[in-house]
Amino acid sequence: TSLYGTVLAVQANYYHVKLDTNELEDRCLLCTRRTRLKKIGQKVMVGDRVLVTEPDFQDGRGAISEVLQRKTELSRPPVANAEQILLVFALEEPSLDPWQLSRFLIKAESTALTLCLCLNKSDLISPQQQQAWQNRLNGWGYQSIFLSVTQDLGIEELLSRLQNKISILAGPSGVGKSSLINRLIPNIEQRVGSVSGKLLKGRHTTRHVELFDLPNSGLIADTPGFNQPDVDCTPDQLAYLFPEARQRLSQGNCQFNDCLHRLEPNCVVRGDWERYEHYLKFLEEAIVLQSNVSQLP
Ligand code: GDP
Ligand code: ZN
Repeated sequence: TSLYGTVLAVQANYYHVKLDTNELEDRCLLCTRRTRLKKIGQKVMVGDRVLVTEPDFQDGRGAISEVLQRKTELSRPPVANAEQILLVFALEEPSLDPWQLSRFLIKAESTALTLCLCLNKSDLISPQQQQAWQNRLNGWGYQSIFLSVTQDLGIEELLSRLQNKISILAGPSGVGKSSLINRLIPNIEQRVGSVSGKLLKGRHTTRHVELFDLPNSGLIADTPGFNQPDVDCTPDQLAYLFPEARQRLSQGNCQFNDCLHRLEPNCVVRGDWERYEHYLKFLEEAIVLQSNVSQLP
């Protein structure tokens, strides 16, 4: 018999695979990779959908005989089939820095993944302030979920957004990402102990990604996706990473095909939208980056 499953963790030549099953208990097997896969150079990543042949539930072992085609593939963190970025910011402590948020949003936009934006520590600001942030971010083109991990607010809404897909956690430090993971995954400490065991005891010292299964069959990568992201797109692509600019470009064209939306005449993007100044600043960075790249020997 063969069963399909998802790779939750990789350590050396071993793969932790959670099999698709209707059974109540998790069927997580420690698997090796079939020689045939090694011969054809088929790598196995966290998030991969795989076929496990001859699963041995007694010993909790199996062998991966096939890797299904990936829908998406990220390199940092190395995760296959992720569909969504869960971007977490705090409203206070540390207070929400619009420029920093913009950087993370641009980075998220430059992946093919959908975005789920969460604003945590909502217990630290008034409902009026929350409404003001909500309006402001709507103006940027984003919906957000207000969370308070400590007061247990917004968690159900977030869980429904995480259902049935692989999400990658991202956000600056101190915003409550670890607190959130601990809230979303009951008994995470025991699970790390039982699922990964001694095999993965280096998870906090080595760079390592692991997917955790949520109560509603979503999976989340606990390793933060990107920290303080650089603007690493080409100057002509940057505008497409701003929903506000995309919207303007969908309604009309700039006079010049290669318009960078600075001082060019008859530009549809330049205008009084809040983040236009972010666009200009990040454009300078993208231009510097491009000239550095083109100067490489
Ligand atoms: P991380 O660096 O993003 O993983 O953040 P942590 O989970 O370590 O949280 C940083 C600090 O924020 C900790 O002291 C948490 O107790 C606190 N914290 C997390 N969530 C909330 C929240 O919803 N409200 C408040 N007031 N504090 C929170
Ligand atoms: Zn333009």
